[in-house]
Amino acid sequence: MVAEVINGKELSIKLKLNMKKEVEHLKEKNIVPHLTVVLVGNNPASRSYVNGKKKASEEVGISSEILELSEAITESELIQIIEQLNNDENVHGILVQLPLPIHINVQHIIEAIDPTKDVDGFHPYNVGKMMTGQDTFLPCTPYGIMTMLHSKKITIEGKHAVVIGRSNIVGKPVGQLLLNENATVTYCHSRTENLKEITKQADILVVAVGRPNVIDKEYIKEGAVVIDVGINRLENGTLTGDVDFDSASLHAAYITPVPRGVGPMTITMLLHNTIKAAKGMKK
Ligand code: NAD
Repeated sequence: MVAEVINGKELSIKLKLNMKKEVEHLKEKNIVPHLTVVLVGNNPASRSYVNGKKKASEEVGISSEILELSEAITESELIQIIEQLNNDENVHGILVQLPLPIHINVQHIIEAIDPTKDVDGFHPYNVGKMMTGQDTFLPCTPYGIMTMLHSKKITIEGKHAVVIGRSNIVGKPVGQLLLNENATVTYCHSRTENLKEITKQADILVVAVGRPNVIDKEYIKEGAVVIDVGINRLENGTLTGDVDFDSASLHAAYITPVPRGVGPMTITMLLHNTIKAAKGMKK
């Protein structure tokens, strides 16, 4: 078996074309979707991520700005700025780029964002809504993964989905979204015993570990769907996922590549959430 590739880059181009039309309709009603991205400090990776978000916003006609703040900003100063953005009716989406400097409590900042503008879907109010299966902003990476599965009409109901990783931004929520669609979900993590025995039972395997090539065909059941969330930069500068693509492709029915897989979908779902916010999210 040689796996069919789920190309996130191509899918995101298609989705963005539709979003562009949606934004044009909103502009006809004098609504200009606006995303404010807050960048604290000078982390080069964060800077490159926020630039990517701004560029993608512009592609679909969403207005966006990057609010650059000093590394030395205090938690209460940052919360004040977020409150100003909460009260600004021209701002529909607020995203605070993580990580934040260690003197700032991330959870306090996330909780300061108005849940109706929380386009990252990290506010506990929105996390709770997601858990209870209500309409809300879904966190972008898990939402992108679900959209990739839907794009190939992959059956989720009744299937065994194994998620490796339990972070709040990827592992936990993607498992929840799979459960919301009636998968039987197993979580694995760094303390899991007999990882291979569990992953070999997966019909859908989501890998969000953050280590290059930890999963190869030996961990994969014939015919499984393999979603590689990992983004790892090797010493030679190339990007690679958590899955050994060539090996895994021999057992999987579907697989996502890195790059051009989950990464572009994450930004695309941020745009989707910003448009949703501009249309008016109710608390
Ligand atoms: P994290 O470090 O918060 O979580 C990693 C998880 O992997 C942990 O839950 C840990 O228990 C588990 N783990 C670590 N070693 C393990 C092992 N040997 N066996 C089994 N489980 C193990 O990371 P994260 O924020 O969830 O991100 C994971 C990866 O996904 C990273 O490479 C990150 O860069 C990438 N990522 C990609 C996107 C995207 O848009 N494609 C978005 C977010 C994160």
